[in-house]
Amino acid sequence: MTQIESARKCYRVMLNASGMTPDDFKAACEQHPAFNSAPGWPLFLRYASAAGAVIQDIRADKRAKRSATIQARAKVTTAKCERCGGAGRISAFKHVNAGICFDCEGTGKDWRSPLS
Ligand SMILES: [Zn+2]
Repeated sequence: MTQIESARKCYRVMLNASGMTPDDFKAACEQHPAFNSAPGWPLFLRYASAAGAVIQDIRADKRAKRSATIQARAKVTTAKCERCGGAGRISAFKHVNAGICFDCEGTGKDWRSPLS
């Protein structure tokens, strides 16, 4: 596969992952700072590079929204997180991020439980 083919394949994969329309994704790439970080590069490489940066931003945004939801819901529920049993930490995973439960982010609350 040539460099241009692999860059295009990369771009298509990231377009699919973005959940955006091809036009919106192209516009998002062109507006991303990464698109202009290497102005001397061929255009196909600039698109592929910006596409990766756009996807990273989308994922960071999703993580931030999930985190905000967990923190907000955990304040108003009394139900315990099923994964960590309400401890907020899982000792078996203490080597990963100090064992903080990924499901409740250490709050110990079941943030998915219906509010009473
Ligand atoms: Zn938990």
